[in-house]
Amino acid sequence: MSKPPRCDLHCHSTVSDGVLTPAELMRRAAGNGADVIALTDHDDLAGLAEARTEASTHGLQFINGVEISVSWEGITLHVVGLGVAPEHPALVEGLAGIRAGRHERARRIAHALAEIGFDGAWEAVLRYARNPSVISRTHFARFLVERRAVSDTRAVFERYLTRGNPGYVAHQWASLAEAVGWIVASGGVAVMAHPARYRLSHAAMLRMLGDFRACGGTAIEVVSGEASADAARDLVRLARRLGFAASCGSDFHAPDESPVDVGRVAGLPAGVEAVWEGLERF
Ligand code: AMP
Ligand code: MN
Ligand code: MN
Ligand code: MN
Repeated sequence: MSKPPRCDLHCHSTVSDGVLTPAELMRRAAGNGADVIALTDHDDLAGLAEARTEASTHGLQFINGVEISVSWEGITLHVVGLGVAPEHPALVEGLAGIRAGRHERARRIAHALAEIGFDGAWEAVLRYARNPSVISRTHFARFLVERRAVSDTRAVFERYLTRGNPGYVAHQWASLAEAVGWIVASGGVAVMAHPARYRLSHAAMLRMLGDFRACGGTAIEVVSGEASADAARDLVRLARRLGFAASCGSDFHAPDESPVDVGRVAGLPAGVEAVWEGLERF
């Protein structure tokens, strides 16, 4: 049997909250030994063409991707779309709507931070965000680290940017049905990103994955940058039991922030169906 390809199906460029341009990211992935890569910026497809061109010069197989922000039962979920068609009207319009909401939310976050004494957040995040239509909490985290509010981006989230903290603002993203619907309509496969990150009870996890499947979702990310090998084993069991295909991705954002480098994510454990085997435009 031939060796399975080294796949990284989740990473971010300057089109969302990563720090490398799409081309720089592809060069790094190729240098790290990846065989297959998907660029999955938050709520935007603008990096795909540049990434695809650069990937091909390195013999790196490229898959169009996106990570869509979803509100479900009062929490935020991320759904990765793989193999999507970047010109599909429903997907393009749906993502434009999310980005408009994102912009509005970013203004409110800047205002909330000003109220607790951090002036200049808006100007700073516009500087950090190379794509002004995707301003993420990550950009605010970098601003707060620059202001020495806290030492690292993780601590910033815990102190300022998550629910119950002063820089958090509630926001309504797309519905699960909308996000999965756009992905599937455009020819893609919908993958539930980093399921362990949502801290759901077992019952809520089953309900969430049941809703996801009912909407057309067919895969879950069992290996993710920061998650442990134990978490991956649990998710493999869940994927097998519920009949989901499995994906793996580094969720790489930046060399000095991300625990796993792009293209260096662990492979899938044995016994699950790999999501890339079902992707037509591999
Ligand atoms: P947003 O989509 O604007 O709410 O930002 C979410 C992004 O913030 C995620 O994609 C991660 O890149 C980052 N993020 C969320 N939670 C954390 C955390 N606890 N530590 C570090 N980064 C985080
Ligand atoms: Mn991110
Ligand atoms: Mn995510
Ligand atoms: Mn991500």
